[in-house]
Formats: sequence, C-alpha cells, structure tokens
Amino acid sequence: MTSRNQQFFERARKVIPGGVNSPVRAFRSVGGTPPFIVSGRGSRITDADGKSYLDYVGSWGPLILGHAHPKVVAAAQEAASRGLSFGAPTEIEVEMAELLCRLLPSLDRVRLVSSGTEATMSAIRLARGYTGRDLLIKFEGCYHGHSDSLLVKAGSGLLTFGNPSSGGVPASIAQHTLVLDYNDDEAVEQAFAQHGERIAAVIVEPVAGNMNLVAPRPEFLQSLRAQCTKYGSVLIFDEVMTGFRVGLACAQGLYGIHPDLTTLGKVIGGGMPVAAFGGRREIMGKIAPLGPVYQAGTLSGNPLAVAAGLSTLELIQAPGFFVELERKTKALCAGIEAAAARHGIAFSAQSVGGMFGLYFRSECPKNFAEVMQCDQDAFNLFFHAMLDAGHYFAPSPFEAGFMSAAHSDTDIAETVAAAEEVFRVQVTEGR
Ligand SMILES: *Cc1c(COP(=O)(O)O)cnc(C)c1O
Repeated sequence: MTSRNQQFFERARKVIPGGVNSPVRAFRSVGGTPPFIVSGRGSRITDADGKSYLDYVGSWGPLILGHAHPKVVAAAQEAASRGLSFGAPTEIEVEMAELLCRLLPSLDRVRLVSSGTEATMSAIRLARGYTGRDLLIKFEGCYHGHSDSLLVKAGSGLLTFGNPSSGGVPASIAQHTLVLDYNDDEAVEQAFAQHGERIAAVIVEPVAGNMNLVAPRPEFLQSLRAQCTKYGSVLIFDEVMTGFRVGLACAQGLYGIHPDLTTLGKVIGGGMPVAAFGGRREIMGKIAPLGPVYQAGTLSGNPLAVAAGLSTLELIQAPGFFVELERKTKALCAGIEAAAARHGIAFSAQSVGGMFGLYFRSECPKNFAEVMQCDQDAFNLFFHAMLDAGHYFAPSPFEAGFMSAAHSDTDIAETVAAAEEVFRVQVTEGR
C-alpha cells in the first residue's frame, strides 16, 4: 500500500524538478520520501497520511512562535481583506522599518525585499557600489542565498580566489570571491594584508547555521570588524537566520559588534516572504532612487507579508521571551546529549538562543572541515528513527534546528525520551 506522501511525491516529480521547490526538502541526503505537510499548529505539523510530528525545523527558522499563531494569522487575514498588493507605499512598511531601526542600532535605513537571497545579493551590490571595489570575502560553509557571487567554494590555495560551487556560475564571477575558513582570524588578517585595498566587503553568518550550527569565536567577529574598519571595507552580517532568532538584539547585539550592513529574513516575515537589508546612512544613500546602485521589487514590502512579520516582531518583544526560548533549546540539547552519553555514543550539542546544533562527533565543530567529520550514517539512522517516532528534524546533518515558543516542556521531554530509545535500540541491537 503506498502512502499519500508517496503518491504526492511521485506526482510532484513528474512536474517539479526532484519533486520539490527547494532542494533540501527532497531528502536526498537522508534518503526516503519526504512527508507532504497538510497543516501545522503550535509545535506540531501533520502530513498527508495524517501522521503528526513535533517540528524542530519551523519552516527553516521563521516560525519562532510556532505554526499558525492566532495573532499572526489574524494580522495577515485582516491585511488580506484590504487588498493583496498595491505596488505603492503603505504605512505598515514604515512601521516595520521604524521597528527594525529601533531594535538594531546599526540600522539607520532599511529596505524591505522578499527573500534572504535578494537581501544578500543587494547588500553585496551596494557594498561594491559604495566602495568602488569588486572583491568579496566569504567563509566556507556559510550560506547566503543562491546569487552568483555567493555560490563559490574555496580555490586550491589558501589565499586564491574561489571556484563556482554551482553549475551556471561563471568562473569570472567566482574569481571575485575569496573563501576562507570560518573562525580563522589569521586567514582574514592575511587576506586583508594582501588584498585589503581591493576588498569591497566581508559577508558572514555571525552564528553559522547553514553547516549545522557553528558558533563564532568572539575574537573572530572582532577581527572582521577591525580589518574592515582598517581597510574601508563593508562588514555585512548576514542575519537572515540569526536575526531575532538568537535574541531580540540579534547576533550583533549578542557579540557586541556593529556591522556596516545587515541582512534579515526568516523571522521578520513570521512565515511570509519578508526580508531586508539595511545599515549605515551613507551606504544606504547609494541605493536607488537616492543613488546609483539599482535594486527594486514588485512585491517588496507586500502588505500581507509585512503584517504577519510585524505581528511576529511585536510578540517576541514580550518580557522574558528569549530567556524562555533559550532555556527550552538548552534543555533539548542537554537532554539528547545526556541520552547519547548514557549509551556511549559520540555526540555533542549546543545552542545559541532559539537555534541549535546536534552533532555525531564528540566535540562541537568550529568550522566546516570539523562539521564534515561528523558521522553522517549515524545521523541518518537517528533522523529516520526520530521521524518514524513523530519528531521532525532537518533532513540533513548540515542544517541547524529551531525551537519555537509553542514547544512545551512536555514536548521536549517526549523528544528526549524518543532519542533515548533510538540510541538504546541502535546500541543494543547494533546497526
Ligand atoms: C536562509 C538564508 C538565506 C537565504 O534566504 P532565502 O529567503 O532562502 O532566500 C541567506 N542567508 C542566510 C544566513 C540564511 O540562513
């Protein structure tokens, strides 16, 4: 008997490449059929076969309040009843921009767009236009969306420029991007010593969340700030994932660093397509219509999407919101870690605010090479056993996990108990 999930996936593959509209959803790294989701409420989602899961993906980060929060849904519905899009300015966009500038002191001006990819692509163009330079530094394992300049992997030598990491990206574009190791401030200093006068920008995930979770050494972020200041390069914090996920002041507040430009997405849309880039006034003054750097969007600042985002940002300002979110995220990590330890499994876990990393490796990784040392087979077994037991984690060992305010202590205890059982079976029955 084939399940509805399987039927849908077969249908999907006939009309959508790989059956999905974003590659990680296809379960290629873990194998099997992805559940097709029918609905979500709070901490849970339900698939086409009627199976319910405790969700630790949260649409890859945006759903910090859980699924279908009544106030967020009502805000979007109310906005929808007044019209879906105008392509003209609306008051709610101003409210959103005012709120973002108030919550993040590094933002003097901010522009709304519809995806994180657009935000980072535009921030890079702006940094290049502002500095009149072409070169870009990024870090191995960080993901900044799928624009050409950013789909680049390290070249053959330490300080050689990059190669495309995707088909369709001209080598001539990748050549402008230097890819260094995350947390390696010496490499950054060397790169600036060699190319500083030509470097337009450094773009970094201040807490990396697209190679599983890799926490920054505070000195690493400080060194990026110092080098960019010294050479007049633009420091871009890509906070599409960390923004309002690791705390109300984002990662820049947590680590006390003032970037020149910040990109936001995910949480600021509350599950709808809203992203943003913003920063220092003199840099933002170079963007159209004020300056020569072009950027635009038919649906930018869409009133429905902004209503959902604004409502989310209002709710996460409740006193103690992030204290509670962080407590629960830590409890989940500590619980699974202790369960693994009881069964002698090489495992570690850590969290920053409401995002977390689980690693089949005895120590938390500090860069991409260390993430690659995690036991991928052990992860795949864990992933599928947890999915069968009704606990939905990201279908790849290279993704972070996300807690929501809707997860209860009982939910977390259930997930920890399920993990304990999975580890017990793996060890006693062998794999
Ligand atoms: C998700 C993500 C992006 C891309 O955002 P999309 O909305 O998927 O285009 C960019 N940067 C970071 C750090 C992200 O986590």
